Amino acid sequence: MLPESYDAIVLGAGGAGLHCAAIAGQRGRHILVIDHANEPGKKILISGGGRCNFTNLGTTPDRFLSANPHFARSALARYTPADFIALVERHRIAWHEKTLGQLFCDGSARQIVAMLMDECAAGSVDLAFGNAITDVTHADARFRVTFGNRTATAPALVIATGGPSIPKIGATDFAYAIARHFRLKLVEPRPALVPLTLGVDELLFKSLSGVSAEVVVRCGKAAFREAALFTHRGLSGPAMLQISSYWRHSQAIDVDFLPDRAPGWLKDAKRARPRTTLQKLLGAALPERLAEVLASRLGLESELANITDARLLAAEQALAAWCFHPSGTEGFAKAEVTAGGISTAELSSKTLESVKLPGLYVIGEAMDVTGWLGGYNFQWAWASGWAAGQAI
Ligand SMILES: Cc1cc2nc3c(=O)[nH]c(=O)nc-3n(C[C@H](O)[C@H](O)[C@H](O)COP(=O)(O)OP(=O)(O)OC[C@H]3O[C@@H](n4cnc5c(N)ncnc54)[C@H](O)[C@@H]3O)c2cc1C
Repeated sequence: MLPESYDAIVLGAGGAGLHCAAIAGQRGRHILVIDHANEPGKKILISGGGRCNFTNLGTTPDRFLSANPHFARSALARYTPADFIALVERHRIAWHEKTLGQLFCDGSARQIVAMLMDECAAGSVDLAFGNAITDVTHADARFRVTFGNRTATAPALVIATGGPSIPKIGATDFAYAIARHFRLKLVEPRPALVPLTLGVDELLFKSLSGVSAEVVVRCGKAAFREAALFTHRGLSGPAMLQISSYWRHSQAIDVDFLPDRAPGWLKDAKRARPRTTLQKLLGAALPERLAEVLASRLGLESELANITDARLLAAEQALAAWCFHPSGTEGFAKAEVTAGGISTAELSSKTLESVKLPGLYVIGEAMDVTGWLGGYNFQWAWASGWAAGQAI
């Protein structure tokens, strides 16, 4: 059978791949999207608790991690949250802002997938789902992709197969295999936006499974004020997922359990209420079980009147920078995203095209650009998809 000829072949029908294909198709390009899954956008469907947190109004380049922190700037500036909102509204999808600029569908994430599929149809994009890609080669300025019993060729190939987080829904490290095949550089991939695990020395906190509190968590220069959740394995909740993207093995993280307290608050409390205990004071601001564990860990169970000012000051400092030593993360099985990936060093920040191998493009999570929790990763998928969609 003769190979089918296209202007570009997009590997991966996630947010980045579908958006890129739709944009290019509507520019009159003849586009094929190939995905091994039997339906598109599986991560979109499970995102945002089924409502898809599709963008964030606070999108700025400093909310993305990458070995080159400036790389995302160009694509993010040319396709903004307002552009995606306009698309969502054109499709009459109702949405709302939940918190911290995070936009969700009122209805279902399915609406976002349906919208992207409608946009692909408007660009006459060909779709091939449910077949493994068995070969990708490049010769005579054309890429050749074999999948199922078909072969397609094109002068442009877009890698949009994402990262390996959540393998049970079909995520793979295929992007890295292609990158290695074409000798593109990789930045060591690692699970990000992932729960952290605690070791045996911090077992006491595991008894708090299910307890959550608003904290400030810090790791190096990164800091987030959001909810933290204790689990039977360690630490989760938005604050911990955020900090996990910055955390590296053997680093400690600091937690401020009472971020709104002014320095000296415990000494002041001792003067005002000498008969009260630290646990009672903490219990007024934090969940009861957490207050109990913290007071017992500090060894301050008697009335404040019996505790020296120096010890109260030390307790205050400990509560403002409680040091945890995570033993690891829950890994790719539980990670919302993969940090690292195909290096940006050899890609054009304007078109996402490889500098070494013209015609090869990388978009979305496959590459070394990772957003914060809260709609940033989809905004990167849309923006990078749009940039490549303009170029292919
Ligand atoms: C549980 C969960 C919730 C999330 N919620 C949010 C959220 O609310 N907001 C947000 O911004 N981000 C969220 N994310 C992150 C977001 O889903 C991803 O960053 C985004 O989907 C990346 O888009 P992508 O197109 O680059 O990759 P993907 O969406 O992963 O798409 C890659 C596509 O490639 C296909 N593929 C993979 N391997 C192969 C192969 N070997 N052959 C052929 N095809 C292949 C896959 O089937 C998939 O369709 C969430 C992630 C998870 C796991």
